[in-house]
Amino acid sequence: MTLLDIRQLKKTYTARIGAQSYTALNNISFTVEPGEFVAIMGPSGAGKSTLLQLIATLEQPTSGQIFLNGDDITLLSEMSRTHFRRKNIGFIYQDFRLLDNLNVRENIYLPIVLNSRPPASMKKYFEQITTQLGIADVLNRYPFELSGGQQQRVAAARALITQPQLILADEPTGSLDSHTAKKFLQLLTMIHEQMHSTILLVTHSVLAASYCDRVLFINDGMIYTEIYRGNSPQNQ
Ligand code: ADP
Ligand code: ADP
Repeated sequence: MTLLDIRQLKKTYTARIGAQSYTALNNISFTVEPGEFVAIMGPSGAGKSTLLQLIATLEQPTSGQIFLNGDDITLLSEMSRTHFRRKNIGFIYQDFRLLDNLNVRENIYLPIVLNSRPPASMKKYFEQITTQLGIADVLNRYPFELSGGQQQRVAAARALITQPQLILADEPTGSLDSHTAKKFLQLLTMIHEQMHSTILLVTHSVLAASYCDRVLFINDGMIYTEIYRGNSPQNQ
């Protein structure tokens, strides 16, 4: 079954006094199958962040539908959106967004604690992902003690801990130097391949997009082209 089915999605930000309303997304349609790793590229202001915010139910569309596993998530009540987000979506941001006063272990467990599920049931999975991401030896450290690459790997573990249906990554390598970015992308690809996680990655980086199965190019709120690749790069 198709995981994500976006149909004629439109988002117009309503005018403030004296300003014109602005259509950030104009009839976008596409689907994502389970286990796909999809890049969304396009210039600044193209509507990429708006698209992620609509999928995350942080914004409501002006018209159109977003089906996740067959359910139209644009119909969720405001109350159920928070629960939906915590259960189904993992986020990775450009600026990591770790909590400074929590150590690595606590940062990773945070989404679980918010869902009030017992950490004990997660221990094995926690050990697996922190080992795979190479952060098992820094669990008691605090974010400020870590390099940028380590912080982003902690953020990736936090995104994975709830085993979400969908991972939304907004420019995840934007704060990393190219060597660290490449290492992070290799780890993300490995996790994607081993856990069959579905990832939607917004990026300006051709390097980052080269790791994806498919690239959607957005401009002026519309998809203007789409590139399918056979597989992840073999020659990195
Ligand atoms: P991108 O992520 O591709 O840079 P965005 O989705 O952030 O693009 O923005 C698309 C357009 O929508 C931009 O012109 C931006 O100024 C506008 N926009 C984004 N958020 C808002 C908002 N909350 N209110 C009004 N306009 C917005
Ligand atoms: P841009 O990428 O357009 O420069 P930001 O990354 O700062 O802008 O994000 C713009 C808006 O989108 C912010 O309000 C932010 O909270 C939101 N946002 C950023 N990343 C995500 C994400 N992964 N999912 C949902 N919303 C996000």
